[in-house]
Amino acid sequence: MPELPEVETVRRSLLQLLPQKKITAVEVFKPQIIAAGGADLAQLVGREFVDFGRRGKYLLFGFGGDERLVVHLRMTGKLLYHAEALPREKHDHVRFAFADGSELVYNDIRAFGRFWLTDEQGLTEVSGLNSLGMEPLDEEFSAEYWRSRVAKRPRAMVKAALLDQHIVAGLGNIYADEVLFAAGVHPERPIGSLTAEEDSKLAAAMQQILANAIANRGTTFRDYVDGNNEKGGYQNFLQVFQKKGQPCPNCGCTIERIKVAGRSSFFCPVCQHPPKSHE
Ligand SMILES: [Zn+2]
Repeated sequence: MPELPEVETVRRSLLQLLPQKKITAVEVFKPQIIAAGGADLAQLVGREFVDFGRRGKYLLFGFGGDERLVVHLRMTGKLLYHAEALPREKHDHVRFAFADGSELVYNDIRAFGRFWLTDEQGLTEVSGLNSLGMEPLDEEFSAEYWRSRVAKRPRAMVKAALLDQHIVAGLGNIYADEVLFAAGVHPERPIGSLTAEEDSKLAAAMQQILANAIANRGTTFRDYVDGNNEKGGYQNFLQVFQKKGQPCPNCGCTIERIKVAGRSSFFCPVCQHPPKSHE
């Protein structure tokens, strides 16, 4: 599933590809992709993609006017640019045609992704967008911010808190596990048991790992590609995610997998001490 580094990489790739291309047609082949209550994408005909924003895992496009197109790729969504129009593929659900013969296609095998076309005010109606926590790469992000947001939930497990988009925007299962490993914190540790030093390590790891992952254009296991259909490179730098049974890069002990908050979690049982029974 695309997380912050993958969505940011898609944004950057489209920023290189789409400006100054006039939209000549918009086709929606699967109406469920368009969120209920949103405007008709056909009103974008004649416009150009001008603004390329991102908030958490949401892409936010502007067209020089009031329209705001919000896209969430969810599990398997891809925004693919083709320099020449291609025959429609099975899971192509939305298509923007441009005046120069190129196209932008939204392909999504699981079809969980969503488009919202609205205006600046209507962004408050986009599910989840308005309640996002701070971006770890925001200048104001800090260990103090993280502590302030989790302080009311001392019994919550730290992995669940990292995945909660209201607390920190953009982390998913891959980067949460990598952050916990880098900080030496077990995924099941209760928030209330974390020391100030551990909170600082977690905050620093969120920033370093996301920045490195963006620099390497995200992580590709199966589906993820950028707007140019290119895979990411950060899968070559992962320390624990999807590495059950392999040696820990720090201590050589075997990496384990458990379920935490309903998600597979990979960790080193030595470098990341399990919670004590009284925690
Ligand atoms: Zn280890």
